[in-house]
Amino acid sequence: MRIGLAANQAHHSHAESALFRWLRASQQGIRELDIRLHAVGRTYDAIVRDGVLGDYAGLLRYPYGREGGLMKLVAEIVGLPESGRALDGAVYLMHPVDPSSIFPEAIALKRQCVIHQKPFISTVASARDWVELERILAGFAPDPGADALHALEHQTLALIAHDAMKPQMVAYAAEHFDVLSRFAQRIATGTTGQRLNELAWSRGWPQEQDWVQRYQSGPMGGDAQIADLVLERRCQRALFFEDPHVARQHEADIQLLERAVTTVTDDAVCMTSPAVARRWAEAVRRRAELRPC
Ligand code: PGA
Repeated sequence: MRIGLAANQAHHSHAESALFRWLRASQQGIRELDIRLHAVGRTYDAIVRDGVLGDYAGLLRYPYGREGGLMKLVAEIVGLPESGRALDGAVYLMHPVDPSSIFPEAIALKRQCVIHQKPFISTVASARDWVELERILAGFAPDPGADALHALEHQTLALIAHDAMKPQMVAYAAEHFDVLSRFAQRIATGTTGQRLNELAWSRGWPQEQDWVQRYQSGPMGGDAQIADLVLERRCQRALFFEDPHVARQHEADIQLLERAVTTVTDDAVCMTSPAVARRWAEAVRRRAELRPC
């Protein structure tokens, strides 16, 4: 597996920074899965300086960001047929006040991950969660260090789908209704929530009860309301099926929610595409069989 890797400077400036919190927590899984980390220059240099991965042969160096390192990751998420260069996803640990997190290549990196249904991982919690799910799907025993991420009964899940993605969200929820129903609470933007409640009622959920609590519709501020819950650590996971092919009137709100997630990087997981969310649900099911809580 080949993964692009970049972290904003504040996330790799000292030993306790986000990048190292992730690598310390997940390095065993990275080695077990033999994940190739295609790291942009400063991130690579910081990992080598810190020594966290020792002489791990899967760490590969890309140019510095200012020399196009991040731009190269974007092209490789899309894939370069003539050279065979292609990445399976990207870990980009964004710091909310680092201006480079809104450079075009940063936005394009996420967008192309969404378009090509590859994981775009922007927080420490998402990165830990992703390594654990890949470990489980590869047949490794559950890592007790990831138990808290899998304590769904104590978590709130946010579900948001843009208009073109709503049928996929409803299909996803139907397919994984058991997993999603394990959460202590589900919340959603208005129209997505309405569709999901209708699905739940059609499956026998009590008519007088909402399966998801609905907030405002996205364009009316629902993303901002959910962002507030994320910031207060009252929402630990978001499934956000974005439509990357249309201009969004509430683009600022969408980015606000993303930035809220990266502001509480150790405590919020965000998944941006149905393919990634499916793998996660499958891993949750398998892990629960192996390690019932
Ligand atoms: P909605 O909001 O669920 O109310 O449609 C999602 C969005 O389109 O932002």
